[in-house]
Amino acid sequence: MFDSSKGLVVDLAVVGGGPAGLAVAQQVSEAGLSVCSIDPSPKLIWPNNYGVWVDEFEAMDLLDCLDTTWPGAVVFIDDQSKKNLDRPYGRVNRKLLKSKMLQKCILNGVKFHQAKVIKVIHEESKSLLVCNDGVTVQAAVVLDATGFSRCLVQYDKPYNPGYQVAYGILAEVEDHPFDVDKMVFMDWRDSHLKSDIKLQERNSKIPTFLYAMPFSANRIFLEETSLVARPGLPMEDIQERMVARLRHLGIQVKSIEEDEYCVIPMGGPLPVLPQRVVGIGGTAGMVHPSTGYMVARTLAAAPIVANSIVRYLNSDRGLSGNELSSEVWRDLWPIERRRQREFFCFGMDILLKLNLPATRRFFDAFFDLEPRYWHGFLSSRLFLPELLIFGLSLFSHASNTSRTEIMAKGTVPLVKMINNLIRDRD
Ligand SMILES: Cc1cc2nc3c(=O)[nH]c(=O)nc-3n(C[C@H](O)[C@H](O)[C@H](O)COP(=O)(O)OP(=O)(O)OC[C@H]3O[C@@H](n4cnc5c(N)ncnc54)[C@H](O)[C@@H]3O)c2cc1C
Repeated sequence: MFDSSKGLVVDLAVVGGGPAGLAVAQQVSEAGLSVCSIDPSPKLIWPNNYGVWVDEFEAMDLLDCLDTTWPGAVVFIDDQSKKNLDRPYGRVNRKLLKSKMLQKCILNGVKFHQAKVIKVIHEESKSLLVCNDGVTVQAAVVLDATGFSRCLVQYDKPYNPGYQVAYGILAEVEDHPFDVDKMVFMDWRDSHLKSDIKLQERNSKIPTFLYAMPFSANRIFLEETSLVARPGLPMEDIQERMVARLRHLGIQVKSIEEDEYCVIPMGGPLPVLPQRVVGIGGTAGMVHPSTGYMVARTLAAAPIVANSIVRYLNSDRGLSGNELSSEVWRDLWPIERRRQREFFCFGMDILLKLNLPATRRFFDAFFDLEPRYWHGFLSSRLFLPELLIFGLSLFSHASNTSRTEIMAKGTVPLVKMINNLIRDRD
């Protein structure tokens, strides 16, 4: 534990012990720098049920941190058509991933302080973090990794994200109709709403889909999800749709092991770039604006942030304070990443306008694309020139109705994207 009586100035203070914060704490401490991790519940198991594409974790040598993998996934477009996705999917073993990171942090000498940070005071070459227990932690660099609570990182534009809202249960059931070799990435069927016209109309305007991880014939994670809406859909509405769906699918819940209330802000402006406090993860705009996914992208970005901090703190240029943070932000959000995010926000702006039939047509065309395009889009691996080819390819795969919709609903977001790209270049 961190001993505040010594009056030490640590090299790095990491505020927030989620996946983003612990990954950076581990990697900076590995390089021999002193690190203090501050979180109100450092020993708590991370609450969220994370799903990732297996290739994303394989690329980071983290396959052992998946507790279940499915050789493929399925998307139900409607009652007549479905797409089989030949891309393995996995569930993160969050207990193992966290304990591995914690163990490495402990081995590397990271100190932990159990508290909430309430304030930061910056001096020229160090910052003081004031915690809710009265303790002050002094650090050369402060990393805000507080997720969507965005504790320290500053924003200067109105915060107007879309919201992914979902309700999930990990349940023991009598049985379920899904193939245990395929995770259900999206189920857009709505036949369960036929007897409830009001619910069906609401779903037609702002649709929700089922995301499911079948672990066995009797154990399954089921999550009714609104991909993105502004404002976000009320949780009770989502729960009502889920109850109707499960009843229609004949799924009888025997017991619930865990439940998850998921609200993910998507898109919106990036934080002020650069600024004195550095950020990573949810607080630093790293959620994929069109999908709500983030864990794989953040874990892949952690070495970039960590190396940057280590390099500039150790450099003979003697960087500190604002100069050092500017370099770290530049490495986290280089121009190609900012352009990529702008394109993903454009994607989100289109999705926000699509009703159920249009959403179905969109994903019908999306999953017909060459795998490298849809894989690359979902995993943030495509950059601007390829993203434009992706966009054209999606357009050419779309039905005539879908093309007209994209033209009608995409023009304003397209102009917005182009303006933002021009502003960013200036
Ligand atoms: C329910 C849910 C399910 C999700 N599922 C997926 C998924 O399947 N796949 C995916 O890729 N992404 C998913 N996401 C999105 C994203 O990956 C997660 O939100 C992820 O946990 C963000 O990681 P993080 O480290 O940035 O923040 P968090 O995991 O939110 O961690 C932030 C930490 O900061 C601490 N903290 C907050 N304020 C303070 C403070 N003032 N002082 C000190 N500590 C503080 C919190 O206690 C917490 O421990 C999901 C999000 C949610 C909400």
